[in-house]
Amino acid sequence: MSVYDVAVIGSGPGGYVAAIRCAQLGMKTAIIEKYNVLGGTCLNVGCIPSKALLDSSHRYEDAIKHFEDHGIEIPGEVKVNFKKMVERKASVVDQTTKGIDFLMSKNNIDVFTGVGSFVDATHIEIKGEETQTIEAKHTIIATGSKPSTLPFITLDKERVITSTEALKLPEVPKHLVVIGGGVIGLELGQVYRRLGAEVSVIEYMDRIIPTMDSAQSKELTKALKKQGVKFFLSHKVSDVTRKGDEVTITATDKKDKEVTFTGDYCLVSVGRKPNTEGLGADKAGIKITERGQVEVNDHLQTNISNIYAIGDVIKGAMLAHKAEEEGVFVAETLAGQKPHIDYNLIPGVVYTWPEVASVGKTEEQLKETKVAYKVGQFPMRALGRSRASGDIEGFVKILTDETTDEVLGVHMVGARVADLIAEAVVAMEFRASAEDISRMSHAHPTYAEAVKEAALAATGDRALHI
Ligand SMILES: Cc1cc2nc3c(=O)[nH]c(=O)nc-3n(C[C@H](O)[C@H](O)[C@H](O)COP(=O)(O)OP(=O)(O)OC[C@H]3O[C@@H](n4cnc5c(N)ncnc54)[C@H](O)[C@@H]3O)c2cc1C
Repeated sequence: MSVYDVAVIGSGPGGYVAAIRCAQLGMKTAIIEKYNVLGGTCLNVGCIPSKALLDSSHRYEDAIKHFEDHGIEIPGEVKVNFKKMVERKASVVDQTTKGIDFLMSKNNIDVFTGVGSFVDATHIEIKGEETQTIEAKHTIIATGSKPSTLPFITLDKERVITSTEALKLPEVPKHLVVIGGGVIGLELGQVYRRLGAEVSVIEYMDRIIPTMDSAQSKELTKALKKQGVKFFLSHKVSDVTRKGDEVTITATDKKDKEVTFTGDYCLVSVGRKPNTEGLGADKAGIKITERGQVEVNDHLQTNISNIYAIGDVIKGAMLAHKAEEEGVFVAETLAGQKPHIDYNLIPGVVYTWPEVASVGKTEEQLKETKVAYKVGQFPMRALGRSRASGDIEGFVKILTDETTDEVLGVHMVGARVADLIAEAVVAMEFRASAEDISRMSHAHPTYAEAVKEAALAATGDRALHI
């Protein structure tokens, strides 16, 4: 029987990064993945394919809606070859997952294909084409998550679908009804809206992206409405029924009035649930919480001292980069180091266009915790760079401590803010004040100038270009 210092179960961004860092630190490492391809949700049915479709559909929309403004004329009709678009997405996924194969082999990590299941705290049975058992001094559970649904919905995966099917539909829907106005629903909704579908988003809360700053919800709603997405907020879905190629969704609005929606596809994007299926957690005595998550302490250690857990299967935001940080954290903990993760500084991004990005506390959170704060906000439309590209929607909003001027939260909507948020993360990591940011030179003309201007606005209303 092969004996390992560390076995990682699951090869998503949490698992494969944990395996690489363990190997870098000199540990004999194995990774176990139930599918034939590595990369988990993120690379196969999450971050990467959704961004490929967002990018392709964005180019199409630019061609039909915005090229003309730039003086570019296309003789004849611009058409979408949807099959080719989906094939391109598949090839991007393929290249990316092959990259993980390469990284595993480069780092001498043994890859096992099959479902990993605990026999006891130090032995894992792997059921693949053949069944084998390995011994591991330490195990990192990185089994991720899967789409969740509502109790009364039957996901037939053809017309009533999750994000996994929405990434490989055989056609562009005529009317896509999206249940859930969170990140995944909005990103995929925008893809199909751009490709010509009617898109209706039904959201239980009174705003979309409800965990982000409310100013972002408002701005994104405005932008997506302009693009033709319809929103039904404060609506509670009570039934989803499919008849042939038609799906009927019943909901009640905030006045308790029944409303029905009929579409050819219904995307159920109401969140994801931790995945511990087939793991045999009970055989090793691992505690699972009421919410189905693997319970961990501050060291990401389970109640069984040689077993750790990371990523979507534990508490916290379900984000690829959070899973990656945790993978490195556990590897370094096992190597005797004292790593640290500041969860307040894990950014959140929505890759619609305009993009939405956040780090730190929202205005609602500061109000709730009664922290005295200042706000500096700067609109993208006042930037030369935005006018040059035509991407004038959005803003950068900086929240600072009223007394110390320390940056407490940064919230953005606009072109490329998914990349701009990194500046805010660096600033907050080093506990910068808005004054610090406002004194740094930002290249002109860039979208990043909005960060400097918002910082100037936060420190005595000194924005220069408004
Ligand atoms: C449509 C969509 C878009 C997304 N976009 C983004 C984005 O842009 N940015 C972002 O940060 N996050 C995004 N996410 C979320 C992101 O994909 C997850 O947060 C991330 O994949 C979690 O990583 P993980 O390593 O914890 O688990 P996962 O990526 O879920 O990987 C877990 C792996 O474990 C395997 N596994 C499970 N059980 C076993 C077992 N018993 N034995 C062997 N293998 C097992 C699974 O097959 C899977 O491969 C998106 C998600 C979706 C669905």
